Amino acid sequence: MHEFIAELYPICRSITGDGLRETLKRIGKRIPLEINEVPSGTQVFDWTVPREWNIRDAYIKDQHGRRVVDFMRSNLHVVNYSVPMKATMALAELMPHLHSLPEHPDWIPYRTSYYTENWGFCLTQRQLEQMRDGIYEVCIDSTLKDGSMSYGECCLKGREDSEILLSCHVCHPSLCNDNLSGIALMTFIAEYLSRLELRYSHRFLFLPGTIGSIAWLSRNEENIDRIKHGLVVACVGDSGEFNYKKSRRSNAEIDRAVPHVLSHSSPSFKVMEFSPYGYDERQYCSPGFNLAVGSLTRSPNHCFPQYHTSADDLSFVRAEYLAESMTIFLKVINVLENNRTYVNLNPKCEPQLGKRGLYRSEGGKIDGQLHELAALWVLNLSDGSASLLDIAERSGIEFNAISNAAAALAAHDLLREVPDSSKNQNSPSRACGAPGDA
Ligand code: ZN
Repeated sequence: MHEFIAELYPICRSITGDGLRETLKRIGKRIPLEINEVPSGTQVFDWTVPREWNIRDAYIKDQHGRRVVDFMRSNLHVVNYSVPMKATMALAELMPHLHSLPEHPDWIPYRTSYYTENWGFCLTQRQLEQMRDGIYEVCIDSTLKDGSMSYGECCLKGREDSEILLSCHVCHPSLCNDNLSGIALMTFIAEYLSRLELRYSHRFLFLPGTIGSIAWLSRNEENIDRIKHGLVVACVGDSGEFNYKKSRRSNAEIDRAVPHVLSHSSPSFKVMEFSPYGYDERQYCSPGFNLAVGSLTRSPNHCFPQYHTSADDLSFVRAEYLAESMTIFLKVINVLENNRTYVNLNPKCEPQLGKRGLYRSEGGKIDGQLHELAALWVLNLSDGSASLLDIAERSGIEFNAISNAAAALAAHDLLREVPDSSKNQNSPSRACGAPGDA
């Protein structure tokens, strides 16, 4: 994952343009990715897909022709979506277009101006302090033209049409934790899951922030109720503890699965209630959709000093933290995939586990006291109303032990699965991976 981040790092991405396309193309070399193009000017709910932005070069030259600010050294030096510009001007005139971070004099800030036509440069405070009064040549060799906005979608078909959604933004230029880490993690999860037999269909969305999720929701409105669980993936490569922000529903299955996994995997983590601030969960959890989509990050946006600066670089994200994040995400998916509700077929007193080889003292197949305890919890609470996740929460035993015990008990006809009434199989509308998907 870290190598993939390093590969994508130099590309100048934005909410539209060739950098975004190139990024999606590279993701598409690893997983089956459908790349969609939404034409500029397309109305998506209350928003309009903006014109396409591309940039080749940008600089500020001093009187000696030296590039004092140079896009070729870092794509963060230009305010993302800057309109084309070619002029000479005095420093005083240039100043309102220069952005720096006095509190971190060696870092370049990241700034955008997507929906207001503007231009500017971002530079370190040290660079700014070295600029003397005088005339400067300013060039931004960009274009802002009718074109399209690209986004990527990968769908893995499961036994059910019901879906688990993972979504990340792909619009940031050379920034690693926010959000090349999310792009890399989602790519690797999709690659991993593509080799497994899945219960749910899994949909992976690689979208330009805000406008991308709004466009996707407006184009897929009729199938939205397929999404049963979802996570927005961002900032998963730094050393910070895990932070889970619940969906707007607050008590959805995902809102319980993530804290359950974290409580058995992480020494410390935070769970926050939903707030309409952050990444694309703002759109998924808007009242007209109200999807069960939470947001799982390590350090959340705005909560680490390197956020939206050049210090969010390849050394800020580390392979070990990415790997740990991947484990957590896979454990959450495992809970969702295997959460079921059973009814105990032998509810009058405990069934005799020993004679079925399910009890340790008689050389049982379930080894260890914990698994016996898990089996007793599953038998006791499986009255058709409690799911395996309910039982894991109430018993304090990790989901996998509960799920394994249930599988062993079901194999001995001590449990029967209760059908999930929320399943929408045989739905006539577009299924993940079905013909016509493109
Ligand atoms: Zn960001």
